[in-house]
Amino acid sequence: MIIYQTQEQWDNFGQKLCQIFDTEFKSSPAPEPIYIDKVIQSAFNGLNHTEESKELIRQANIGEKNPLFGIKGKNHHLYGTKGPMLGMFGENHPMYGFKMSEHSKELIKQANIGQKNPMFGKKHPTIVCPHCNKSGAQNGMKRWHFNNCRLNKLTQK
Ligand SMILES: [Zn+2]
Repeated sequence: MIIYQTQEQWDNFGQKLCQIFDTEFKSSPAPEPIYIDKVIQSAFNGLNHTEESKELIRQANIGEKNPLFGIKGKNHHLYGTKGPMLGMFGENHPMYGFKMSEHSKELIKQANIGQKNPMFGKKHPTIVCPHCNKSGAQNGMKRWHFNNCRLNKLTQK
């Protein structure tokens, strides 16, 4: 994962992206999908780690071996911010005014459709809200229940 630590790095990234899309997708009538292809290939190509390799990754990053182990407060690179995107909306957003071409949209669609979609043939696990005991699929339940549960808010007041 790339973490943009400064405003400048983030701006450069946004500008670069805009330039690439400008030149690759807007100017020529039948553009080569160079950039999109790279992004998709780098995104692990739709493969999953085996349980074994997941465990190896976990063991390699656990406790003291984690690069952020014991780094707290002012020493943390996100101290005082809430992340690299804090306050970046509207005109301040690096992608402000950017409109993706239909061609780019189509490429992204084709790369995530059907069997290529990471959720293909899978189901979100069913979980139960501890506040109202309602059960449901994880994606919706995490949004409307748990910390956001109506009953949870009522008991807090
Ligand atoms: Zn609930």
